Amino acid sequence: MSNNEQICYNCNSGESQLFLEENGFNLVKCDGCGILYINNPPTGGEIEVATTTGIHDGEKQLDVNVRYRKSADRLYRKVLPKLFPDGFSDVNTWLDVGCGYGEFLETLQNYSRNSVELFGSEPNVIKQQAAQKMGMNVSYYDLDEHDTKYDVVSLLNVYSHLPNPFEFIKSLRNVVSPGGFLLIQTGDITSVTRESLIKPAGLPDHLSFATESALISMLDRVGFDIESVVKIPSIAFTLDQVAKEIVKLILPNKSSFLKYYFLPKKTQSQSMFVLARLR
Ligand SMILES: [Zn+2]
Repeated sequence: MSNNEQICYNCNSGESQLFLEENGFNLVKCDGCGILYINNPPTGGEIEVATTTGIHDGEKQLDVNVRYRKSADRLYRKVLPKLFPDGFSDVNTWLDVGCGYGEFLETLQNYSRNSVELFGSEPNVIKQQAAQKMGMNVSYYDLDEHDTKYDVVSLLNVYSHLPNPFEFIKSLRNVVSPGGFLLIQTGDITSVTRESLIKPAGLPDHLSFATESALISMLDRVGFDIESVVKIPSIAFTLDQVAKEIVKLILPNKSSFLKYYFLPKKTQSQSMFVLARLR
């Protein structure tokens, strides 16, 4: 397809194929590296406003001020021992960028038994204030101007919301201590097909979707060595969640993710946690 609006932020290719049209936006697959990105995104100003309000304009307005699922804690507790098998002995300070309502900080606080000094940065005002009310050390930092460094910087469920993830990851070098860690969690769409991409894809709240190789390449190019990659299925259900999903299938105006669960496993999207160390 002709694409004169956006080139790929990862490999700079201008060649791409239309993958999905949703809410007035075109999600394309890069011919060069295989990531998915919107090639007619909102303007920088529109994205900035949406980031602070949680309201995204498209053909339909998208309100993303929903609280995370409580199951996030269970997921984080499963993944943390795999990422940090020796615990947090060398970790004194931790900044969670785009911390939302502070779910991950809450897990870290309990998991580390308060041994780590935790900070959160969140541009969305509703989420930021909710986290502050829960006693979390959360505000909004402009990371380009920020002069503090942290032993670990995490970026969970943030990547897909960034206008240019490569530039953003590069800017995180400023806030990671020498030899410190950067932890990124996002979906890996390497084997995802048009059919198996979970819909709605949440455009334009989501601006792009990564592949494992693209993320690893970006981290390497900006000066991080990969320590470990932990992957888990994006769609996994406990028995009572299955029951709830079946109810959703019957109710009008409810969409269930259950149908994606029955697609071939190799085409299902995965959630990846990539831990990297500053060189
Ligand atoms: Zn590309």
